[in-house]
Amino acid sequence: MKPAPFIRHVPRTLDEALKVLAEVAPQDGRVLAGGQSLVPIMAFRLAKPAHLVDINEVAGLDKIASDGKVLSIGACVRHAAFHKPVVDNPLGKLLTFVARHIAHYPIRMRGTFCGSLAHADPASEWCLVAATLDATMVAKSTRGERLLAAKDFFAGIMSTALAEDELLAEVRLSLLARDAKFGFNEFNRRSGDFALAAALVTYRLHGGKIIEARVGGRVADTSPRRIAQAEAALKGKAPGDAVFRAVAEAAANAVDPLEDHQTSASYRRDLVRAVVRRSMEHSTS
Ligand SMILES: Cc1cc2nc3c(=O)[nH]c(=O)nc-3n(C[C@H](O)[C@H](O)[C@H](O)COP(=O)(O)OP(=O)(O)OC[C@H]3O[C@@H](n4cnc5c(N)ncnc54)[C@H](O)[C@@H]3O)c2cc1C
Repeated sequence: MKPAPFIRHVPRTLDEALKVLAEVAPQDGRVLAGGQSLVPIMAFRLAKPAHLVDINEVAGLDKIASDGKVLSIGACVRHAAFHKPVVDNPLGKLLTFVARHIAHYPIRMRGTFCGSLAHADPASEWCLVAATLDATMVAKSTRGERLLAAKDFFAGIMSTALAEDELLAEVRLSLLARDAKFGFNEFNRRSGDFALAAALVTYRLHGGKIIEARVGGRVADTSPRRIAQAEAALKGKAPGDAVFRAVAEAAANAVDPLEDHQTSASYRRDLVRAVVRRSMEHSTS
């Protein structure tokens, strides 16, 4: 099928983009970034926006910058930008490791980091990263700028706290400590498919014991989130098989998986247990 008719606006500056978005948002105007989620939905006529605000020509939105504490990722930064570390920090390696799990190469060349967050598919790897690392979202509109914490940004399946006239202009991630370790694991039936379950773990060691543990999961219920019960089970422990299994069990018990015709809740719970354990077993610095 072909999309329903629409008008494409191509602003060149951020101010222009925000102005156009403010005008067309009430008529189901949408931002077009990489188009890797929006265009297929339009082709199936599941969305029929009358206006698209194409942000690909807006100067400055393709920037990645680090001030030594925070990594800022602009709205037009593609998934492929992370194929190599973008910053000399464990965060750079983490993003590179995760990026290669997203879809396929052509999709990674077009799809954007911020677009994934704005789309808020619960299976998105970047949403998991943002939730686990407590990213800050910079939302802009003609009304001004809002900073949103990841825990307040994700509002459910494909739903965020962004207002219809707001552009997710930038996402900020704090750099990790130099000695931080991370592990990521996901399960999908075919390589490149959206994952059925995924987990991201970061921590540091102090005197051989785990400190500053973060355990995030695409925990098969709604949005990716940190799993407090799993983090508590890691805190103060020495890394090892028994601890990793206990943490995985805590994560599996903390989730309330959705069921569908292909996948039962107990199977999804098993997947959560497996990806959390594997993410810790494979954690590296
Ligand atoms: C076959 C296939 C497999 C895929 N597999 C995966 C996968 O394994 N993992 C994964 O994470 N993704 C996957 N994707 C999705 C892909 O990563 C998309 O790139 C991503 O979800 C959306 O980014 P985009 O830039 O393409 O956004 P678009 O498609 O342009 O937009 C998506 C939505 O977000 C809104 N939006 C986009 N940018 C902004 C912004 N800056 N501010 C406000 N609103 C905005 C749009 O209005 C739209 O509603 C897959 C896609 C395909 C087609």
